[in-house]
Amino acid sequence: MIPGPIEFEPEVMDAMCVPTPSHVAPDFIESFGHSLEMMKLVWMCPSGQPFVVAGTGTLAMDIAGSNLIEPGDCAMVISTGYFGHRFANLLRRYGANVTLLTAPVGDIVPLEEIEAALKKKKYKLMTSTHVDTSTAVMNDPKPIGVLGKKYDVLTILDGVCSVAGEEIQQEAWGIDVVLTASQKAIGVPPGLAMLVVSPKAMSVWKNRSQPVGNYYADWENWLPIMDAYLQRKPSYFGTPAVNLILALEKSLQLILKEGMEQRIERHRKVGHAFREGLKSLGLKIIPLNDGAAANTLSAPWFPENVQGSALISGILDEGVIVAGGLLPEIKTSYFRVGHMGMVGKNEVVTTLKAIETSLIKQGLRLENDACLKTALEIL
Ligand SMILES: *Cc1c(COP(=O)(O)O)cnc(C)c1O
Repeated sequence: MIPGPIEFEPEVMDAMCVPTPSHVAPDFIESFGHSLEMMKLVWMCPSGQPFVVAGTGTLAMDIAGSNLIEPGDCAMVISTGYFGHRFANLLRRYGANVTLLTAPVGDIVPLEEIEAALKKKKYKLMTSTHVDTSTAVMNDPKPIGVLGKKYDVLTILDGVCSVAGEEIQQEAWGIDVVLTASQKAIGVPPGLAMLVVSPKAMSVWKNRSQPVGNYYADWENWLPIMDAYLQRKPSYFGTPAVNLILALEKSLQLILKEGMEQRIERHRKVGHAFREGLKSLGLKIIPLNDGAAANTLSAPWFPENVQGSALISGILDEGVIVAGGLLPEIKTSYFRVGHMGMVGKNEVVTTLKAIETSLIKQGLRLENDACLKTALEIL
């Protein structure tokens, strides 16, 4: 129950456990092309340009940053935690002049503050993190997309912990780049960086005055490859992670079979049930209000007088793996539970029960199974 790598569907594992085909084998070309087409449906971006490149979510951030930033460009980073800071550092590496807007722990940056900053200076792009996996704080990308359009600023959404788990309508909301990695809500083992890019962002890249400062990430190298797979033609730049692409095709099929609306609704329900269950265990979560709470993971504070590491190992004794804190300034004061992908009633109940048992072992007096009743009523 950690926020990535998550637990994967057996069918996805089966799809990749085959002798590795050639990257130009006709069946493989079909799987890659089909996966790219399905990405546009999952991202809800019919006119977008999909990219899948071997690497992690950080590479997806790197691909967006290196292709769209030229030295001296102004970029705004709307940060809600660990991954916002990573984006700021990354953009600076490519010569961006970065304005960092940070929210207090557990909160989001208010839209008025973002708009005030946009009025002051002309930015080329702005980034935000949909779900910050370090705090479980969720931004609403829709009004940020509206601001991007209003001030003619490209919008990049770090959706590594949200794509296929939280609602994203990339095209309707006017988001220029939505990026993710395979091992979170997409439901494929780690190793794929994935992006869908708007026609506007592609044209900004085409009109660069200098070459991209990152050879591996350069769209000049990858665009012909993606186009070739979409047209079911063989091509080569760097060897794709062949078996992972087979897993991706299967996972995207399962996602679309469930239906985007149903899948998002299931995550909403699971997230809500989990948060309410935590509440009835007396645990407080980092997000300051329900509107800023993610559905793909939760981040509860350790209760007072409870030793965090003992609580986590008690949960492990019950057979459930959770994650420790990630945000440096509060790292030892909270833990994280992922609930995305194939997670349903069984996982929510088992995890809440494990936390309850561990809390009782730590000396807390709790009413047996009260958290389960709360969660099951919602589910
Ligand atoms: C996990 C994560 C990343 C980094 O992904 P890696 O695959 O670990 O490089 C970036 N942003 C967010 C929001 C994440 O959750």
